[in-house]
Amino acid sequence: MNRKSYRLLLVNPWIVDFAAYDLWAKPLGLLRLAALLRQCGYAVELVDCLDRHHPLLDDWETDRPHERSDGSGKFIRQIIAKPQCLRPIPRHFCRYGLPLELVESYLQRLPQPDAILLTSMMTYWYPAVSEMAQILRRHFPHTPLVLGGIYATLCPEHARTTVRPDILIQGEGERQLPQLLHRLFGVSLVSVPDFAALPFPAYDLYSNLDAVAIETSRGCPFACSFCATHLLVPEFRRRAPQRVVDELFHWSETAGIQHAAFYDDALLVQPESSIKPILRLLIECESRLCLHLPNGIHPRQIDKELADLFFAAGVKTIRLSFESASPARQDDISHKVAPADLENALNVLERAGYERRQIGVYVLLGLPGQPPQEVRESCLLVRELGARVDAASFSPIPGTRSWNQAVKNREWDPTSDLLLSNNSIFPLWRNRYGYEFCREFWAWIKTLNREPANPDDRLFSGCRSTSTH
Ligand code: SF4
Repeated sequence: MNRKSYRLLLVNPWIVDFAAYDLWAKPLGLLRLAALLRQCGYAVELVDCLDRHHPLLDDWETDRPHERSDGSGKFIRQIIAKPQCLRPIPRHFCRYGLPLELVESYLQRLPQPDAILLTSMMTYWYPAVSEMAQILRRHFPHTPLVLGGIYATLCPEHARTTVRPDILIQGEGERQLPQLLHRLFGVSLVSVPDFAALPFPAYDLYSNLDAVAIETSRGCPFACSFCATHLLVPEFRRRAPQRVVDELFHWSETAGIQHAAFYDDALLVQPESSIKPILRLLIECESRLCLHLPNGIHPRQIDKELADLFFAAGVKTIRLSFESASPARQDDISHKVAPADLENALNVLERAGYERRQIGVYVLLGLPGQPPQEVRESCLLVRELGARVDAASFSPIPGTRSWNQAVKNREWDPTSDLLLSNNSIFPLWRNRYGYEFCREFWAWIKTLNREPANPDDRLFSGCRSTSTH
């Protein structure tokens, strides 16, 4: 068979969870693979179950969520049966993304591909990967199924047993591509470009594109205790600023995108040679894109010049990584941000033109050994500084220091079903304080964001005491 006649089907499955929201995310790894495969002469088809603008939805009227003007938005959801271990949670469990029947009918019409590449994201979303694998096998029983992505990389044995792919790949997909193509088709691919020279992700596979996710770098030089980035991407690498800007203009001109979200893990590392030149180039070219930074950025790196560049270049969404006001916690996490760093960052951002309440500050909740009082103190500090608390519930990820710590402290059973590590159900705190307490705490943060930070308010009563539990 001639190489050009091979057809590959690339699939991004649904999310199954109690909640999900689309913050401009795209399956970047899969889209880079698609671009590389096409460069090598393969035909590629994409099924992205999380595409909120998929033409399949044109006639779908049921429960279609309203679009937000900033390009983010809710997914369509279908309530599904709760897995046994999640039954005690008094919330709907849902499949988010393209409705199942639309995906089935679409696959029905596709000719049989020569191979299927299925990606995966959060480990506790594995039921969606498993369900998709079963559907794909039913439609294409003779086609080899390759599984990659975050879940496959972090929990390969679980994925082999549960999803039963023909081939499982771990780590960055493009690095595995030569061996994979050899295994699948017996063809040799001499080399794959380095990250910096990879082709642009194949966003042209989307019929209606209004936003792209973009990376200026991959990996992270830090090693925070709760984070799995170093397990997924061992080295920190970056792209030339001009190439990043070329990519943004390419999608703006060819697809008419209005929004771009930077999905770097460490966007502000060495800002003088990366983010600052990128923003200057965008300003010089009079870019009209709305830019978003949904991943937390490091407050210590934000000086007056960077804040001014953010504002002038059209950065609309800013989220700062703070995690905790506790010095001991900051030491433990190892990516230190002092309250003074946060205050300085908010000051320069405000002077640049942002309103403080526009800026989200990530505060971690439910880390190993973390008392609620510590989280309360952190939230109050953020509110006293005038910013919005973006609470991030901790999820124990196998292989991270925090996971080991939680197991050692007997706060986490390492044999637990991965479903129980879902951050929506507060894995460690639920075991310790109960689910109702966690929901009330979450509601307290929401109310806190709506209220002025007034220490006399009943919401704040007890918050300054040394312990509550
Ligand atoms: S800075 Fe962010 S990406 Fe890097 S290790 Fe810490 S949490 Fe992970």
